[in-house]
Amino acid sequence: MVADTRHRVVIVGGGFGGLFAARFLKRAPVEVTLIDRVNYHLFQPLLYHVAAAELAPTDIARPLRAIFHTDETVAVKHATKPAPAPAKAAKTEKAVAAQLPRRKVTVLVLNGNGRRGAAATAASRVSGKGYRIGLVANAPSHDYAASLVMYRPGFKGEAQRLARDLGVKVVSPLDGVRPGQLHGAQAVLILGG
Ligand SMILES: Cc1cc2nc3c(=O)[nH]c(=O)nc-3n(C[C@H](O)[C@H](O)[C@H](O)COP(=O)(O)OP(=O)(O)OC[C@H]3O[C@@H](n4cnc5c(N)ncnc54)[C@H](O)[C@@H]3O)c2cc1C
Repeated sequence: MVADTRHRVVIVGGGFGGLFAARFLKRAPVEVTLIDRVNYHLFQPLLYHVAAAELAPTDIARPLRAIFHTDETVAVKHATKPAPAPAKAAKTEKAVAAQLPRRKVTVLVLNGNGRRGAAATAASRVSGKGYRIGLVANAPSHDYAASLVMYRPGFKGEAQRLARDLGVKVVSPLDGVRPGQLHGAQAVLILGG
């Protein structure tokens, strides 16, 4: 028996980054294991069409195993890599004063916990605090452990005030969403568990 001396590469996440890395490494003399906490790749740019009921969720999600079924060097595993706690840095960030009054701040509300009706309930709470509501939709995944508020560059103070108003502990810059995808909103509320 000949020992397999190829390097082993583990890729965490079958998003665009993970898929491109795995596809690129197919040409290299390595064994790739791609792990994801869900068993599908989600084509996030089409999420808005699902929110608008123009597409079904299954139209924008493809099983990772199906994507790589012909590739002998790429193994797909369904598992969660424990993530580091994200909240610490955000908690110690300096408070910034909000410039806009609440009524001029538009908030995108995304359901990140999968509980039916959670985003709609939160949206009415946010609007009850005097904010405008932009889109109410699903977040890219439903396993956010805690709620967080993300902000468009320049609106950190507004995001911190929104987080205070709602009792949300984590405030961070945009992650995975570009300003152009916010439909004019200054802040995004993602509901966690
Ligand atoms: C509504 C919306 C519209 C967008 N439109 C566009 C667009 O038009 N053009 C554009 O260029 N970009 C767009 N984006 C942004 C784009 O989708 C993201 O930049 C891109 O998906 C990021 O890819 P990624 O691989 O870094 O992360 P993701 O695609 O988020 O993939 C991360 C993967 O890692 C997995 N994962 C996470 N944590 C763990 C863990 N601990 N253990 C195991 N697995 C884990 C997740 O399940 C997920 O499958 C949009 C995003 C959204 C939300």
